[in-house]
Amino acid sequence: MKRLFGLLLLLSLLCLAGCFGSDPEATAKETEADVTTAEETADVTTAAETGHQHTFDQKVQSDEYLKTPAACGEKPLYYYSCVCGERGESAFKGDPVPHVYSVSVSDAGLIESVKCTKCGHTESLNLQVPTSGTLKGAFKCSESKYSGVDSAKILYYENCTESHFENVVRWLQTNGLTQVQSYKMGGNRYVLYRGDYFTAYLSYLSGEGAIRLYIGRADDKIPSRIDPGAGNVTPALWQINVDCKAAGYNGGMSYVLQLSDGKFIVVDGGYDTKEDADSIYKILSENKPANHEKPIVAGWFITHLHIDHIGALRNFTNQYKGKVKIEGFYYNFPYVAVGDIYPSNNQNWEDIMASWTGATLYRKLHSGMQFAFAGTKVTVLCTFEDVYPLEFNSGNDSSTVFKVEIAGQKIVFLGDAEYGESDRMLNLSSDTLKADIMQYAHHGYDKQARANLYQKIDPSVILWPMPFVNWESESHGEVFRPRYLTHGENAWARTAASVKKIIVMAEGTTKLELPYTPTGPRNADYTALYEEQRP
Ligand SMILES: [Zn+2]
Ligand SMILES: [Zn+2]
Ligand SMILES: [Zn+2]
Repeated sequence: MKRLFGLLLLLSLLCLAGCFGSDPEATAKETEADVTTAEETADVTTAAETGHQHTFDQKVQSDEYLKTPAACGEKPLYYYSCVCGERGESAFKGDPVPHVYSVSVSDAGLIESVKCTKCGHTESLNLQVPTSGTLKGAFKCSESKYSGVDSAKILYYENCTESHFENVVRWLQTNGLTQVQSYKMGGNRYVLYRGDYFTAYLSYLSGEGAIRLYIGRADDKIPSRIDPGAGNVTPALWQINVDCKAAGYNGGMSYVLQLSDGKFIVVDGGYDTKEDADSIYKILSENKPANHEKPIVAGWFITHLHIDHIGALRNFTNQYKGKVKIEGFYYNFPYVAVGDIYPSNNQNWEDIMASWTGATLYRKLHSGMQFAFAGTKVTVLCTFEDVYPLEFNSGNDSSTVFKVEIAGQKIVFLGDAEYGESDRMLNLSSDTLKADIMQYAHHGYDKQARANLYQKIDPSVILWPMPFVNWESESHGEVFRPRYLTHGENAWARTAASVKKIIVMAEGTTKLELPYTPTGPRNADYTALYEEQRP
């Protein structure tokens, strides 16, 4: 096992040294396959200017090297490529194109059949999930017209114990599914199983006594847990000052992390404005290592589909595609209407993401999931699936909440989580939740995460994504007027002794070198800054 990891690490490092754009999954596949066969067909040319000698021996099966597409079950042709990313002339046969199955699950927990959304091929399965506790039904995560996009369903059981969970795990194994990942957070259990027809994600939330079995697409990509290895860049976190004046609204959230290998993680990005897209690009371009031809975003995370979070991605795509390399997008959007979030928008956003050549769409982050970037570990703490199908009216409670461990510190991004997700996360242990730095939820509006969740996260630094000036007509936007700071959760933030520093977005874009030790006053003079910034 150790040797395999060593080999994977070595190959990842080799890849980091010289190539852009290889899909990590494709690379992993390559290591499993017979690497030596490539030599026989190697095609060697020299680029005169650089002296780098291309060796077209890489079998990367991604769209950018696709020569001839194929129908389901048939093998497409791909061009060989060099480790530097250059495309060769000769081609090889790729793996057969898989069907994209939509799964039909009955309310009684019978997995009836699958149908390919591309070619119509059907298979009947008739797999009865063992009854655990009280089955409340099969809840769709997708409206039927989006079934090609996501046919997922959640089977939701109440009155469950951990042994019910283990019973379903055994059933998954008996039916030939393979375990991909298994996690524990406090008394909660999570497993991810992969089969030919569907992916099964099973969770047991101890505090709720509930089991959720999520039946999703077999081709959902699963992020890698293998750390590609730390580099020598000092990690940093930027809280970007979202230009609320340009957007004409309040809120907005945009963070950039630089990892030790010089690559970046972007969290949300702010509004669909040139200003917010430019702010991200400025940080990426000014801080990329000299040996990166263009900035590399290892992961762009979208917490949820509100325009003050995802909006900038559209503007950024229009302006900067070709100037930046994005390796992956990380998110989990419901394909049902949630509050003011509608599934018709989701597809547009996924099309925008897919337009980034070489980017993998990790579209189903699940709670408990852990994965790695250079010197960095990410743990997913909550997604809409943990709240679903209980009634929740706000799109904010569909936020994907996650913890980033980097440079010996922990950072929790709460997105716009409100009470629904707070209550789920309160079932997690203090150990799991504890962070040094916490992004304050939902901009500090009157509806936000619960103070006892903040208390359990117990941060010494709060990053607060909000302007001082109210740029929209609603009065509740004036979060930093004294009357709003003295009640509810904001009273906690204002007074908690454990909090040593609060940094508000509107103080200006702030860079924290990691690990970060808070210095200076606990918070800025909000009244003075309001006077300075108001029109
Ligand atoms: Zn098919
Ligand atoms: Zn927001
Ligand atoms: Zn929101």
